[in-house]
Amino acid sequence: MSYANETRRRRTFAIISHPDAGKTTLTEKLLLFSGAIQIAGSVKARKASRHATSDWMEIEKQRGISVASSVMQMLYREHVINLLDTPGHKDFSEDTYRVLTAVDSALMVIDAANGVEAQTRRLIEVCRQRDTPILTFVNKMDREVREPLDILDEVERELGMPCVPMTWPVGQGKSFGGIINLRTQAMTVFESGSERLPQDFETIPLSEHDTLVKRFGAEYESALEAMELATGASPAYDHEAFLAGKQTPVFFGSGVNNFGVMEVLDALVDLAPPPQSRKSTVLVNRQPVEKEIQPEDGAFSGVVFKVQANMDPSHRDRIAFVRMASGKYTPGMKLRVQRTGKELRPTSVVTFLSQRREAVDEAYAGDIIGFTTHGGVQLGDTITDGASLQFTGLPFFAPELFMTVILKNPLRTKQLQQGLAQLGEEGAIQVFKPDMGGAMLLGAVGQLQFEVVQHRLKAEYDADVRLESSQYTGARWITADTPAELKAFTDAYPLRLAHDAADTLAYLCTSPYDVRLAQERFPKIHFHPLREHA
Ligand code: GDP
Repeated sequence: MSYANETRRRRTFAIISHPDAGKTTLTEKLLLFSGAIQIAGSVKARKASRHATSDWMEIEKQRGISVASSVMQMLYREHVINLLDTPGHKDFSEDTYRVLTAVDSALMVIDAANGVEAQTRRLIEVCRQRDTPILTFVNKMDREVREPLDILDEVERELGMPCVPMTWPVGQGKSFGGIINLRTQAMTVFESGSERLPQDFETIPLSEHDTLVKRFGAEYESALEAMELATGASPAYDHEAFLAGKQTPVFFGSGVNNFGVMEVLDALVDLAPPPQSRKSTVLVNRQPVEKEIQPEDGAFSGVVFKVQANMDPSHRDRIAFVRMASGKYTPGMKLRVQRTGKELRPTSVVTFLSQRREAVDEAYAGDIIGFTTHGGVQLGDTITDGASLQFTGLPFFAPELFMTVILKNPLRTKQLQQGLAQLGEEGAIQVFKPDMGGAMLLGAVGQLQFEVVQHRLKAEYDADVRLESSQYTGARWITADTPAELKAFTDAYPLRLAHDAADTLAYLCTSPYDVRLAQERFPKIHFHPLREHA
C-alpha cells in the first residue's frame, strides 16, 4: 500500500471528558466492538485502582496505568484507529492539554445529566484554539437526565458552534426506548445489559410509523417533535464545517449498555479526518521559514508530545511518545533529534496495539510510537530521518502555583539538579532558575504536581526536599523586538527574572496587577502566558 493510502486509512483522536462521564466505559466498548480486545473489563480493571486514594499514590498508579493505556490502537473496517487517552485528574492537566496537539480530532463524552462540566470546558478551549474537529457523545441516556434539546443548547453555547444531531433519543431513564438514526431513518431499540453486540439490537425503519407509535407511544411522538425542532434549528451536517471545527455531530447513547456506541465508531471512520499536515519551521539561508509537512511525504518526521519516566526507579529510562507527522517507520532506521543533532538510540521501540506494548513493525503518519531511551529526548523535540525542521505548536502554560525547593541534605545537590532537569524535560513540572541565584523555583498548573515531584525526587534521585511557599503567583515568558529593549527591561527587574528548563527568560509576578504595571512601563516588551516549544 502506498504512503498516501496508509495515511488515508488512519484516524488519530483523543477522548475528552470530565471524570465519571463515562470515558473509560466508552473506550472499552470501542476497543471491544473493533475487535481489539476480547474481554470487557480489561480497561476497567486498570481504572479500578484509580478510585482508591486521592493523594500522590494515585498519580503513581496512574503513571503505571497510563503507559499501558494512554495510547490504544485498533483496526476497524480496514482503518487504523489510534485512540489517545487524556488523563483525567482534575489537578493534573498540563499533560492532558498536550495530548490534544497529537490528534486530528476529539471525541467529547458528556454525562446527559450534568452537561458540559468544568474539566471538559478547559479541554474544549484547547481544541477550539487549534480548530480540532469535535464529535460529541451524550452518554447515560438510560438514566433520568436532561432534555436532549436542553443539552444540545448547552453544548452549542459551550463550544460556540452548532450541534448537528446524528442520532436522537426516544425517551430516557426508565422509559428510554432507543435512538433514531437520522441517516438510516431507522430506530434502534434499547435493551439494557452489557453482553449484547451492536448488531444484536432490533431496528425498525421509521416508515413503520404505526408500529413505532404503538410500541413507544407518546415518548416516540414527542421525540419526533423534538428532533424536528432540533434539526430545523441547526444546519445540515456539513463535512467541511465539521473538519474546520465549526460544527459538531452529536450522538446519544449509553456506553455501559453498549448502546449507540457503534454509531460513534462508524463516525470515526466515516467522518473524522485522516492525519493532517503539520506546521514546522525550516531554516532557509539561516532564516526560519514556515513549512507544512504533509502526512504522505516519504521522509520520517514526528514530534515528542509526551515523555514518561519508567516506573522502575532503578532504570533511568523514559518513553518518548512520538506522533508521526510523515513518512514510514521501520525497525532499525536511523533517526535524529533535531534540537541536538544527535542520533536517537532507543533501547526499544513500541506501538500500542490493543493496549499491549508490542515491538513495532511499521508505522505511518498519524501513528504514535514510543521510544524508550536513557535521555537525550525532551518534550517538544522533533525527530526526523535527516531533514532539518522543527515542529511548532506544543504549548507550555504559565504556572499559577510556585514553590521553592529546599534540599535537606546539601550533599545531594547534583542529584537534585539532575532530577529537576529530567522532570522539567518530561513536563512533570516547570523549573525556574532565578537569574540572581538562590533556591530553584517549581511552577505548576495543579497543586498535585508538587507532591508528585517531591515524591519522585526522593524515590528516583534520592534527593529529599522540602517545598516552601513562594511569593510568586504567575509567570510570563518574555520576548522583545530589539536587544536594547530587552536590556532596559532586564535591568529594571533583575530580581524578578528567571530561566526555565528550556532556558527561556521569564518574568515572575506576585499579582495580576504586577504584569499590568510592568507592561505599562515597558509597552514594547511581550509578556506571553503560553510558551510554544521552539
Ligand atoms: P470516566 O471517569 O469518564 O472514565 O467514567 P467511567 O467510564 O468510569 O464511568 C463512570 C461511572 O458511570 C461508572 O460507574 C460507569 O459504570 C457509569 N456509566 C458509564 N456509562 C454509563 C451509562 O451509559 N449509563 C449508566 N447508567 N452509567 C454509566
